[in-house]
Amino acid sequence: MRSSQYLLSTLKETPSDAEIVSHQLMLRAGMIRKVAAGLYTWTPTGLRVMRKVEQVVREEMEATGALEILMPMVQPADLWQESGRWDAYGPELLRIKDRNQRDFLLGPTHEEVISELVRKEISSYKQLPLSLFQIQTKFRDEIRPRFGVMRAREFLMKDAYSFHLDEQSLQQTYDTMHQAYCRIFERLGLDYRPVIADTGSIGGSHSHEFHVLAQSGEDAIAFSDSSDYAANVEMAEALAPTEQRPQASAEMQVVDIKLKAGQQAADKLAISSSQTLRTVLVRASDEVTSEFVYLVVRGDHELNDVKAAKLAEVATPLEIVTDQDVIGCVDLFQGPWLDYPIIADHSAAVLADFACGDNNNGKWRTGVNWERDLRFSRSADIRNVVDGDPSPCGKGNLRIARGIEVGHIFQLGTKYSDAMKVGVLTESGKHQTLTMGCYGIGVSRIVAAAIEQNHDERGIVWPAALAPFDVVLIPMNMHKSERVKEVAEALYQACLDAGLSVLFDDRKERPGVMFADMELVGIPHQVVIGERNLDQQEVEYQSRKTGEKEKVAVDQVIAYVQ
Ligand code: ATP
Ligand code: MG
Ligand code: MG
Ligand code: MG
Repeated sequence: MRSSQYLLSTLKETPSDAEIVSHQLMLRAGMIRKVAAGLYTWTPTGLRVMRKVEQVVREEMEATGALEILMPMVQPADLWQESGRWDAYGPELLRIKDRNQRDFLLGPTHEEVISELVRKEISSYKQLPLSLFQIQTKFRDEIRPRFGVMRAREFLMKDAYSFHLDEQSLQQTYDTMHQAYCRIFERLGLDYRPVIADTGSIGGSHSHEFHVLAQSGEDAIAFSDSSDYAANVEMAEALAPTEQRPQASAEMQVVDIKLKAGQQAADKLAISSSQTLRTVLVRASDEVTSEFVYLVVRGDHELNDVKAAKLAEVATPLEIVTDQDVIGCVDLFQGPWLDYPIIADHSAAVLADFACGDNNNGKWRTGVNWERDLRFSRSADIRNVVDGDPSPCGKGNLRIARGIEVGHIFQLGTKYSDAMKVGVLTESGKHQTLTMGCYGIGVSRIVAAAIEQNHDERGIVWPAALAPFDVVLIPMNMHKSERVKEVAEALYQACLDAGLSVLFDDRKERPGVMFADMELVGIPHQVVIGERNLDQQEVEYQSRKTGEKEKVAVDQVIAYVQ
């Protein structure tokens, strides 16, 4: 690829609305462009990287024996009515109508559609077990899309589903998928951890999340320093023997605002009778250290920035009880079946969103556990599980780290197959309901997560498996030197012949601009072709990762970068 014919679109300045480094670098390196909140266009560079992730995922899924299919993004409501999720799923589900006023939805996941396929296509035990997967666009109307493609509304997911006659067969496929996930993240060169994610079964292995370790991660994970044990923090808490848990060092109190300032705030927001303004006081010992204000809005599902800003504005004078530990205001939305708090203050947003990240498994239903919400919205001092706690596995102590959830596997059992009557005839001619597993990977999120782990002050440092190009050729003043041009063109052809993906920076740009752009984009191997080195028939090779420079003979370049 020649830069002159490519869409490079790099930006010098860091866009002000991008909070985390991957979002900043994806914009600056010209990988994505925002269309609307949580909706992005992938430009050629971004798409090249995403396709690489997709290909590794596809290869490893196929290696498990899973078969690729493609299901529609638009799904009919009646399937979701059958499973019970049409009513149960919260406002993340985008419900739409067609021209005949029939209900549809944009698929956030595909258990219903796959169940519909399997109940029609599979009739005999002989066809089992069966695993099917797709790599497809999902839509979730995230209450707070942010961090670019990390938490988008439209995103690319690999979702696989498996069908079995019994638990044992499910467990086998689950283990195979677990191993495939480990291979995927290893091949992608990521520092990751599989963690127990199933809050329901103590010590169970019915659900695992795969986290890429990163400070910007929205989740907290706990792992033992002396064994393979790792869990998300909630799970570690559920497993920890009570007596081992340190006492919470702060207590929360929820009160309706009857304070003078609260009333003023309520007046200012013009809150109707169905809405209440409440405060949460956080006390450490006898002292109130923080106060939160939140709004209870019945039947209102939208976090609208204007309202959040307005709330922040009125809440500010209320927050400060002492000058430390102020987190921000909390906007509580009460939907038909779930409540979730949103921290409007950006400084606390990374920590706080953990508390509102995952609502649809029932953890944050009405009667929300404020102590828990606030614990996650605060720093580690009032989390029940703290770094150094004894590990629930009995070996070693827990270390707490932040993680980005890039994959999640579940044993679903007969939850969907019961509701949707997915079964086959067994050997003895009896009808049997199938047992299911499902396995998700956030393909587009992985691109951002990889950047969180692989960057420096000059830009992205792609692991080899993810790089948009293997090699970049940077000719110095090619437009003035015939010799440089000749060698650069010859090297370009040699790279193509060798099957390397190569970017030839043939733009009429200053060398400084070329270097800055290529370091920002993060191509692993740089080959600089300049007059002076050509006297010795040499070029300069630079590794993006180590920054080390070496002179390499022109006829050795291909062997060197391969
Ligand atoms: P999260 O806790 O981050 O909201 P989730 O638990 O809701 O994710 P799953 O239903 O487990 O997500 O979906 C499988 C995978 O899809 C996740 O592990 C994650 O990598 C990815 N994913 C989920 N939501 C998003 C999103 N809004 N943007 C990008 N990727 C996402
Ligand atoms: Mg999750
Ligand atoms: Mg979610
Ligand atoms: Mg999940």
